Amino acid sequence: MKRQVGGQKMQATKLFTIDLTKIRGKGDFSCPKCGVKISPNEKTGRTYRILEAVMKQNQLEGIMLQCSRCDSQIHLTGFRALNMTR
Ligand SMILES: [Zn+2]
Repeated sequence: MKRQVGGQKMQATKLFTIDLTKIRGKGDFSCPKCGVKISPNEKTGRTYRILEAVMKQNQLEGIMLQCSRCDSQIHLTGFRALNMTR
């Protein structure tokens, strides 16, 4: 097992991981910290900001986003499973 420690500053920002395959419905979820409803289909950026999209073999693997209300960072995973069920 490799650990990734190097280079990153310790920050007060909390990091949460949400697996979309464990969410029923259209992929909406609530921020684990402040509870604001976040919809991946909402592109206005009012409730969250996309920090980084993680691509793997031209497929969306995950998205790092940040809650606009409480500044928590949320790592969304499970996109591949969503694509498969379409
Ligand atoms: Zn939040």
